[in-house]
Amino acid sequence: MSHPSATRIGIIGGGQLGRMLALAGIPLGLEFVFLDPSPEACARLVGEQIVADYDELMALERLVSETDVITLEFENIPVAAARFVQERGLLFPGPRALEVAQDRVNEKTLFGTLGIPTPPWRAVDSLEGLRAAVAEIGLPAVLKTRRLGYDGKGQAVLRTPEDIERAWSALGSAPLILEGFIAFRREVSIIAVRSRTGELAFYPLSENTHERGILKLSLSRAHDPLQAEAEAHARKVLETLDYVGTMGFEFFVTDQGLIANEIAPRVHNTGHWTIEGAAVSQFENHLRAILGLPLGSTALRGAAAMLNFIGELPPIERALALPDVHFHGYGKAPRPGRKVGHATLVARNEAERDARLAELLALT
Ligand code: AMP
Repeated sequence: MSHPSATRIGIIGGGQLGRMLALAGIPLGLEFVFLDPSPEACARLVGEQIVADYDELMALERLVSETDVITLEFENIPVAAARFVQERGLLFPGPRALEVAQDRVNEKTLFGTLGIPTPPWRAVDSLEGLRAAVAEIGLPAVLKTRRLGYDGKGQAVLRTPEDIERAWSALGSAPLILEGFIAFRREVSIIAVRSRTGELAFYPLSENTHERGILKLSLSRAHDPLQAEAEAHARKVLETLDYVGTMGFEFFVTDQGLIANEIAPRVHNTGHWTIEGAAVSQFENHLRAILGLPLGSTALRGAAAMLNFIGELPPIERALALPDVHFHGYGKAPRPGRKVGHATLVARNEAERDARLAELLALT
């Protein structure tokens, strides 16, 4: 039974991000309703679920009528569906942020307008167009689908001219973008939050390692020299889009500074360590932001490492045998390439964390 005066949050998407939002919001007295087409959606255990497609208007209407504020944990809902919700209720972040984040060309165009460096890029719609783009940008380069790419899906690296046709036949049925290949020194992200009141908060940078295009490990970075640069880029994007909520912003680090890769208009996997590693997590701050409540401190509580469990969970007793390890299982069936959980290690300082990281990595 729901409490009649409780604030109810509607979430489009019912995956682990929705589940962790609810786990952060329940102590604040909030209640949650998820819209997700899968009856197995892993957030169903922490709220109510409407089982329907993201663009089913009757279901969206029901979500609006049963909740006070709506947000999303999945950015690829049709923009028309987001507009439909926005016309009837409160949706944060709004359709404009989705329009930008759903299409790599829109995203890079916005970065360019704001003076945020990107890899050189060209939109590609034909094999001749791809050849011309390769001639201009050079090799190596990365060919990506403009839309619906995630976890390295919809991407091909071109190293020699012979790769052009192969990559085109693998990806060419969708609109594409060719990006120059950045020989980065490391990859970092910033989790940034903007409230309905305009208040801003930024977490310390996260340093990220991907394996086969999927995030494997994130490390919190105290006092990274690139923190101010990342905050300045994120602030411009948040303010230009009049964005409300948590946003993840990924960068490549080069000798010339940060090069923007992409934004995610939602809580982000590289910010999962904030649950135990920061004073207030990215999930709670997202909820505070969309409700117009004061944002919480993003200060580190130690040096954190987050390891994703991909495909299957390790035995929980092995993870919990390690001191200061926090275990998160998402309640999802094992499947190759699927994120099914993560662990966070919080140590007193980066040296201690780095020394203990091997034990955490040995879990997978
Ligand atoms: P994305 O889906 O765009 O975030 O790409 C997934 C991963 O592929 C990134 O985190 C990088 O490790 C790699 N990658 C993507 N684009 C580039 C690029 N232009 N140059 C070098 N590596 C890239």
